[in-house]
Amino acid sequence: MAMLKIPGYENQRPGEVPLSAVRDLLGDCRRCPLCETRTNIVFGDGDPCARVVIVGEAPGKNEDLSGVPFVGAAGKKLDALLEIAGLRRDDVFICNVLKCRPPSNRDPRPEEIAECSPFLREQIRSVWPDVIVCLGNFATRFILRTEQGITSLRGRFYETGHFHVLPVFHPAAAIYDRTKQASLEADFALLGQWLAEHPAAGAATAGGAEPATGAEPAGEE
Ligand code: URA
Repeated sequence: MAMLKIPGYENQRPGEVPLSAVRDLLGDCRRCPLCETRTNIVFGDGDPCARVVIVGEAPGKNEDLSGVPFVGAAGKKLDALLEIAGLRRDDVFICNVLKCRPPSNRDPRPEEIAECSPFLREQIRSVWPDVIVCLGNFATRFILRTEQGITSLRGRFYETGHFHVLPVFHPAAAIYDRTKQASLEADFALLGQWLAEHPAAGAATAGGAEPATGAEPAGEE
């Protein structure tokens, strides 16, 4: 996947491009037909320097109306799960694979993901977290570049370049399937444990050097 060209940032080192520049580039996006039915673009929310980025699937009705990710029922569940990990919403950055709501909450289409995911990639590159938590199949497929299902992947960390990736069930799935709740709670406890065992190495400096791994964010060729 080609990197997005962000005006004013020739090298686009990790953490160099502010989220506001990525948002500006997205603009009043008309790159796919979801622009016709959306109310608001849901760019993302939270700490722009977070150690943890949470990636969901796509905005739902409440998110479309408010412009903020995970504010509906799944959002309440996510807040409670973050608490298990010792985190508050403000501690993490939350975004989605798609920035606009698919009508009737249908699954994202490949062509929509192709248009929208470069912005997710730049968001992750901007925040440059230690951990990416993937909520459900769509986020996991994009970040880990896999077709394997979430049921077999969840419950452990994977390393992809610089990032430690934790795939978990989508919180919305636990609303309808109570058996998934215990797995989600265990996985967020694992996240809390990982963070406690891996204290922050020190504040990242804007425009700082590439990490020693030379790693690149998801979707990078
Ligand atoms: N589900 C998602 O995947 N994202 C949201 O923002 C809300 C619900």
